[in-house]
Order: sequence, then structure tokens, then C-alpha cells
Amino acid sequence: MYRKPTHTNLYVKYTSCTTNASKNSVIRSLTRRAYDICSPQHLDTELQTVRDICSLNGFPPQRIDSIMTEVRRKFLNPPQLTLASFNRQLQTTAPSLTLSLPFHPTVSKPIKRILQQHDVKITHSSGTTLQNILTKTKTSPPPHLTPNAIYETPCKDCNGFYDGQTYRPVTKRMEEHERCYRLNNAIDEDTGNIKSALAHHASTSGHIIDWNETRILTSTRTRAHLDLTEHAAIQVRKPTINRVDRAPRCSQLWNPILPKIAASFKPRPAGMNF
Ligand SMILES: [Zn+2]
Repeated sequence: MYRKPTHTNLYVKYTSCTTNASKNSVIRSLTRRAYDICSPQHLDTELQTVRDICSLNGFPPQRIDSIMTEVRRKFLNPPQLTLASFNRQLQTTAPSLTLSLPFHPTVSKPIKRILQQHDVKITHSSGTTLQNILTKTKTSPPPHLTPNAIYETPCKDCNGFYDGQTYRPVTKRMEEHERCYRLNNAIDEDTGNIKSALAHHASTSGHIIDWNETRILTSTRTRAHLDLTEHAAIQVRKPTINRVDRAPRCSQLWNPILPKIAASFKPRPAGMNF
């Protein structure tokens, strides 16, 4: 088995604070990979390497041997799918609820046992670590490349402005608006729908749109939040260029929090350069 020169043979340590299942899976997956990939003449060498690596990571020899034997047995006699086992699989119903809880070496097992009796399946996640809290390895993209944004574009010749949403980077959406405006095709010829309310405003009024003054009002964490956020922008800020018939429809139940959503907007230049 080829290993890159930078490979350190470091896997989950036997002393790690994690479930036995995830520790055992280290031995199981390395062994299974050896059986799946190695040519017969190299298999023994690779199995010995797996044994050495697991020992280096602190696994006791009995544990290594028993799991490696189990993998070998399953590889040589793969389980046959019989009609009876197929029927059993069909009858096993999925749990009504799955919960992900942080793993704790002493408390997790009892909790899992109790919840299993109530048809709740538990999966384990690692809790928040100091590393999670203190380090930030990802840099945020510049505003115009941020996805899931609500933006505002003003008209140069009247007080009108337009509030829109896009799940793509704002630059992409603005290029489309501007192209519709430049090519004078704000209306889709096949459907009669207005493709760009901004281009439509410009072509019907003769006004000039101030593309470069486009500002990002806010960006949402996920695409699912865009509709409600745009709805809040339209209801509270009343942009005159928007078309009422194309606005997202949201339940009136949201009305009490719309001003709060709009108040959280922090407009920043979108960095357009047309
Ligand atoms: Zn205008």
C-alpha cells in the first residue's frame, strides 16, 4: 500500500475520549482496505503494517487481533442476503427521532440506553473545543462574492431604489440586471415576465440606474432565509422600483418581526464596477 512521504500514521488514539465504535473502526477500515486492494503476495506485509500502526496508536494487541480476525472472516465469507434476512431488514423500522449529543466517556452510554427504550437513536459528535472557539481558519469572501445576499440598487434620476435577493454572488446577479438594461430586454419574450425590474424601470422612465452604488444590506446564513429577509426589506423600506407581483410571499405571522429584521441591515458597498 502506498503511503505519501508526509503520512504520519496518526489515527484516533486508543486513549482518545471517543466511542469504542469509532476507535474500532480505525482497525476495521485499515484491515478491510488491505483485503480489498492488496495483491495476495503483498497482503501479509500490509496486514503486519496495519498491526504496527494500530499498536503505535496505543491499541491493545487483543483488540487488534480480534477485529482483524472478524474482518478476515467477513471478507472470506461475505454475508448472503437471504429472503429471511431481507424480510427482517424491511421490518426494522427507522427510529422516530435521531439526536446528536456530545460524547462523554461515562454519561453517554447510560443516556443512549435510556433513550433507545423510547425509540430515539443517539449519534455522537465532538463537543465544542477550545480550537473551535479560538481559531478561524476560513477567511470570509469579499462582499461582492458573498452568496445569499439582499442588495439595494438606486436610480440616479429619481429617489427610487430596488431591493433584491440572490443566492449567488451579488456580482453575478448585477451583471444580469445590467445586461438586460444594456440590451434593452427587460421582458422575457416567451413568458412576458419582467426579468429585471431595474432594467424595466430604466427603459420605461428613461432614468439611469446607479449600478456602482449597489449596496449589500445583509447576507443570510442559508438560502432558506432569503425570502423572509427580502420580504422584510420590501415591507419596511418600501423600495419603489420593486414589483409587488414578484415579491416573495410570506405568512402574516412574520409581520411583528419584520422591522427587527430590517433594523439589523448594515449596508456596505457591493464593490460593483461597471
Ligand atoms: Zn428612476
